[in-house]
This record gives sequence, C-alpha cells and structure tokens, in this order.
Amino acid sequence: MDSAKRSRVEAWLQYGNDLGLGPYFLTRTESAVSSPLVSAPPPSTSMNTASAANSSAKSVAAAAGSVATPLTVKAGPSLPIISVPSGPTLFEAAERVPNETLDDIRADLGECTRCRLHKARTKLVFGVGNPKAELVFVGEGPGHDEDIQGEPFVGRAGKLLTQMIEAMSLRREDVYICNVVKCRPPENRLPDKDEIAVCSPFLLRQLAAIQPKVICCLGACSAQTLLATNQGISRFRGEWFDFRGSKLIATYHPAYLLRNPPAKSEVWKDLQKVMAVLGLQPKKR
Ligand code: URA
Repeated sequence: MDSAKRSRVEAWLQYGNDLGLGPYFLTRTESAVSSPLVSAPPPSTSMNTASAANSSAKSVAAAAGSVATPLTVKAGPSLPIISVPSGPTLFEAAERVPNETLDDIRADLGECTRCRLHKARTKLVFGVGNPKAELVFVGEGPGHDEDIQGEPFVGRAGKLLTQMIEAMSLRREDVYICNVVKCRPPENRLPDKDEIAVCSPFLLRQLAAIQPKVICCLGACSAQTLLATNQGISRFRGEWFDFRGSKLIATYHPAYLLRNPPAKSEVWKDLQKVMAVLGLQPKKR
C-alpha cells in the first residue's frame, strides 16, 4: 500500500476507534457494536489482486500491499455508515491484527460462507504444517482429494510436492502448506477474482502469523495473487521478491509438472535457490 493510501486507511481506522468501534472491527459481529451509529450495508470489496502489471520486485511487492476495502460515510448530518464487507475488513486490509495465531485465523474463518465456493465444498482446507515454518508453499486451491480430506496437497500433485519437499531434505511437517482459496473450485476451475479477493486476506494473515523466511508460490494463481501482477509466471519464475519481510519465489505448480515432466528440472533449480537461502543440502540418495 502506498503511504498516502496507508495514511487514509489509518485515519479512518482512528476515526472508527474514536467512535468506539474497535471491538466491532475486531470481532466483526453486530452484537459487538455498542454504538447506534453503525449499520452494515451489503458487502462490497474493491480489491483487485491480479491487476497491476509491475515487474520489479519492489513495485510488485508494493502493489501486493494494495489490499483495500472501501469504507463509506454518508455526508451531512445523517449517521455515518460503515461498509462492513463479509470479506476483508479494514483491519485485515491494514493488517492490524497483531500477534494473531494460525488458530485465531482458522477460528475467524469458521464455517466460511463468504463466497460461492462454500456451496460445493466438502471440507474447508485451511493449511497444514509447522506454524513456525521457515518455508511456506502456497498453492492455488483444493482439488478433489483435498476437499475430501481437508488437507492441502494430498492428491497426485500433492504426492509430487511431498517428494519435492523430501528432496530438499525436509519433511512435510517441517514446512507449511496452504492455498490462495480455502474451498475447492467446482470442476477444479481456476478461482475467480472475487473469490480470491475474499479469501486471500486470510492467506496474507497466515503468512503474517508464520513470518517464514521463504514463501514458494506454486503456480501462477498464488504468484499473481501475492505479487499483484497478471504477468505470466514464466516471466518471473525463479526470481526473488521481497514480500513483507519474507523472500518470495514462484515456481511451476506440481500439477503442471505431472502434465509436463521436463519442466521438473526448472523447478528443481528454483528449489535449489530456496535451499541455498535456508542452508539446506539436497537429500542424499
Ligand atoms: N492444487 C493446489 O493448488 N492445492 C492443493 O491443495 C492441491 C492441488
């Protein structure tokens, strides 16, 4: 988020706080509202996660901070109306949820119905692994097996990811694995922009809670979402980006490798870069 936008958001947050609305934002339940000044009009979000076509690490990372939620105030003597979307709140947008744990974030997600993906899901797939992982893998969204089991990357692509992790001399439980969207898109279609817009703040919060040294984006969806770019992944795959204190690298999705095995050598090069940063040696065979 650029500093002017951040200042505006902070001013609004301060204004809400001055009105005693802090608890409302934090719990997001109407019952938490003690002030009669508040109403919750229909949800709306304006986040555009994959629109900026910036290529440098700096501008890409800056664009990734532009997660914003509109807040509207009625002019004149009438009461202020605060738009409370069912997706990200201003606090999420400004990342003002300090010291929260993965359990807090999971509890906040609850039995999520914030987007249409909940309708066909069997299980919400939050994420799995070490809450203090140095390395986080971010995929796109659950597939069939993940939807049934409630765990990311457990199907065919997941088995390949597990092999990749083990080739790095790590175990699945050493790393953290999650997705951009937490519910399976029907027929394994790509998640829609509005679904990503509603769900990705939870991913950002997971990453903020874990604070990994390295984030490895698996495939275009997660890379484009976190880097707020619509460039094709092959243009920036294997490059390092700064992402809010973590180093971020994108590589091809394991499902792509199943269709296109020769690309495995490219992915291995990317993973070797990750290993160099984490001080890992490849597993001896
Ligand atoms: N593909 C993904 O992107 N995520 C999963 O969890 C499984 C397959």
